[in-house]
Amino acid sequence: MDCCTNSSSPFDCLIFDLDDTLYSSKLGIAEPLRKNIDDFLVEKCGFAEDKASRLRVELFKTYGSSLAGLRALGYDIDADDYHSFVHGRLPYDVIKPDSQLRNLLRSITQRKIIFTNSDRIHAIKVLKRLGIEDCFDQIICFETMNPNLSQSTRPDEFPVLLKPSMDAMKIALHAANVDPRRTLFLDDNVRNVAAGKAMGLGTVLVGKTVKSKEADYVMENVNKLAQVIPEIWGVGKDNGDQSINRTRSDLDSILATTIVGA
Ligand SMILES: [Mg+2]
Repeated sequence: MDCCTNSSSPFDCLIFDLDDTLYSSKLGIAEPLRKNIDDFLVEKCGFAEDKASRLRVELFKTYGSSLAGLRALGYDIDADDYHSFVHGRLPYDVIKPDSQLRNLLRSITQRKIIFTNSDRIHAIKVLKRLGIEDCFDQIICFETMNPNLSQSTRPDEFPVLLKPSMDAMKIALHAANVDPRRTLFLDDNVRNVAAGKAMGLGTVLVGKTVKSKEADYVMENVNKLAQVIPEIWGVGKDNGDQSINRTRSDLDSILATTIVGA
């Protein structure tokens, strides 16, 4: 088999969200992140301590993030300052190398892209901690979707663009330069998955047990990818399709080999 193409697969590219898709932030990242955002709202924006948590939740619901909400409301928050405050002090050492995930990603010969609302520094730190920073061809992140923020003269001049906004999705797909019909998009957020579907992507809802309407597939953990979507490797579901030239046992041996060789 050619090592760099996979013509029997319906997918040329896989686009992965990062947080809560490739690792669980519940294991020591999500709680400190909430605390840091609350502290930012109190220390940098002057909100009352007992209002910060509720405000954070409201800003997230309405604007997609506290940063997006604050800027939309006219607070002149520098994105880099915000990210270094809320992400810069996270206990990244709680994220452990994931050799099973690494083997899985290494066995996928198609292009692999990270698409996260987080800033690039956070994305790279997490990928390094997981031991998978060399498994991706491209990182599409906050800075990709918001290149002009630092040049704005008013905080609301350029709205902060994040998944699941269609404008953010368009920028990301343009940057990725992929055919959406041959691209698989994996995300833990139901609204992001819906936005992906609207763009014509194949969609996978990760971290859930029940499929949302716009998800083509659902899996509780990304390490179930080979079991749920063997087509990625050009392996057909058992439907007697003679045009698919690889079998489940081929896939099992690919995964077994990469695990032995880890
Ligand atoms: Mg996520």
